[in-house]
Amino acid sequence: MTNSRYRIYSEHLIEKFGERVYKLPINLPGTCPNRDGTVGKGGCIFCDAQGAGFQCLPNTLSIESQIAKNKRFFQKRFNARKFISYFQAYTNTYMDLESFRRFMTEAVQDQDIVGLSISTRPDCINEKYLDFLQELQEFEKIYINIELGLQTVNYHTLEKVNRGHTLAEFIDAMWRIKRRNFDTVAHVILNLPGDENLDVIENAKILSALGVDYVKLHSLYIVKGTKLGDMYEQGLFKVITLEEYIDRVVTFLEYLDPRIVIQRLVGKGPRGTLLFCNWGTSWWKIKEGIEEELEKRDTYQGRKFDYLNGKAFKRQEV
Ligand code: SF4
Repeated sequence: MTNSRYRIYSEHLIEKFGERVYKLPINLPGTCPNRDGTVGKGGCIFCDAQGAGFQCLPNTLSIESQIAKNKRFFQKRFNARKFISYFQAYTNTYMDLESFRRFMTEAVQDQDIVGLSISTRPDCINEKYLDFLQELQEFEKIYINIELGLQTVNYHTLEKVNRGHTLAEFIDAMWRIKRRNFDTVAHVILNLPGDENLDVIENAKILSALGVDYVKLHSLYIVKGTKLGDMYEQGLFKVITLEEYIDRVVTFLEYLDPRIVIQRLVGKGPRGTLLFCNWGTSWWKIKEGIEEELEKRDTYQGRKFDYLNGKAFKRQEV
C-alpha cells in the first residue's frame, strides 16, 4: 500500500507487470445456468437480460475484432502497451470444453496480451476446465485469474435473490482454483436486501480466510423489468442510504486481509433502464466519499484483520 488506506488495483498492476495494464472486455454469446433452467430459471433477481455485459462490444464480433477495436481505443487514449483479455459478461465457462478451449486460446494470441481474466459462477468451474487453463498458462506463458460472482456469504440472502448456488459451492470453487495457483477475484454486493452489518463483516472474514486475491465491490443497482425492480416499485424493500453504504464499505475494508487488492470500490450500472443506481450520484463521488470516511476515521484496510490463525491465542499474547 502506498499512501492509500486500501490496496489500489492500478498500483498493484504496475508492481506486478512493471507498467500499466488495461483490461480489454470480450463479449461471448452465451447464457447462464441460472437463466436457462439448469440450476434455476429467470436468473438472479437483480440480473437484466444483458448479463452484466452492457459495457462490452456486440458478441457478434469475433474475439480478434473485439480485441483489436478495444486495444486501439486504449492505445489512443492512454498510450497503453499491455493488456488482459477480460471475459466479463454472463458465465464464461458455461459452454462445452472444446468451445471454451477455442475461445480462450484465441483470446491470448495477440502479442500485447499478458493475461486472461475469466468471470464465471462458482458452479461453472471444474477440474477439466482448470486442467485446460493450467495447460494454456504453461504453454502461452500468460497470467490467468478467475473471477467468481458470490455477492454475499449470507446463504439465506443467496436463496432470496435466486442465485442458484450457496456459499458451499463458492468455497469449493475457490479451493479448486487456489490449488492450481490461479489468482481469484470475488464479486460482492454489500447492500443486498436483507443483509446487515454482520453480513458485511462476515463477507470480509470469509474472503480473507479463503485467501482470495482480489475483490470487486458494487452497490446494488435496480433495473426496470427485473424481479428486484418489481419488488422495488411495489415498495417491498428499501435501499439503505448512501451514508450507510459508505459505512458498510469502510467496515468491510477494516476486516479485510490487507493483502487483498481492491479491484473496484464502486460499480457503474447500465444506462437507460435503471430504477435505482448509486443514489443518483456518480460512482467516483461515492469512491471519494469512502476515501474521505477512511481518512476521517483514521482507519484502513486490515485494521481489524486479527481473527485468523487462533484469535484467542493472539489475544492472550497482547
Ligand atoms: S449469475 Fe450472472 S448472468 Fe446469471 S443470472 Fe445471475 S447475474 Fe445474471
